[in-house]
Amino acid sequence: MPPLIGITCTSVHDPRTDTPWQGIKAAYVNAVRMAKGTPILIPLLDDKANLETIWERLDGLLLPGGGDISPEFYGKEVETELMAVDPLRDQVELWMARRALSDDMPLLAICRGMQVLNVAAGGTLYQDIASEIPIARKHNCSPPEHKSDCLAHVVQLQIDSLLAHAIRGGDTSYPPPTLHVNSRHHQALKEIGEGLVAVARSPDGIIEAVESPIHRFILGVQWHPEDLLQHDHTMRHLFENLVQAAAEKGSKR
Ligand code: MN
Repeated sequence: MPPLIGITCTSVHDPRTDTPWQGIKAAYVNAVRMAKGTPILIPLLDDKANLETIWERLDGLLLPGGGDISPEFYGKEVETELMAVDPLRDQVELWMARRALSDDMPLLAICRGMQVLNVAAGGTLYQDIASEIPIARKHNCSPPEHKSDCLAHVVQLQIDSLLAHAIRGGDTSYPPPTLHVNSRHHQALKEIGEGLVAVARSPDGIIEAVESPIHRFILGVQWHPEDLLQHDHTMRHLFENLVQAAAEKGSKR
């Protein structure tokens, strides 16, 4: 049986019926399916009992992109204009990220997901790159101004990292490549959470990926690999590695 990969939902407002919805961008679902995992959406629930029931059935977790995490969760005041803050989603995803760390659940954390992973591990964020790091280049290259697969900057991977290994598809005979990535974030990792290591940076020093060396597969990337699969086959390896790790976990139940 293919491993079950949970993907957390985001809150959506349907203007047509003026009602709250929950859902997620189809590219995440398709990326997991393409990697031969079975995607399943996790609703934003405010009770731990139901989350626990869902958690017990998962083999892996994908934390997708989205709005800003409320700074209260990393012990800071609001210092800038924040984007689409959703405290319920923060609570659900922080709970899931902490459980992934404690249960060694395979986790691919994308964009906001990587920031959730960092905060769950006790790290902090720059609330706005442009105002806090003047030397940084533009990282919020978002639609409609930029297409979702617009290559905004390069990232340099750390040799011997889980990320470099994953990107190379397990072939270590050539050095880790410099990746060309999209970039749709205005926040970034500041203090790295306990147990995580930075394994990719953009030329201006912004942390673009973190991972945990002691877990089976816990990886966060600041870019959006789900939107680059058509152009860059190496991005598929990230989802394939998540699914492989989840299959190994599932088989040991
Ligand atoms: Mn970036």
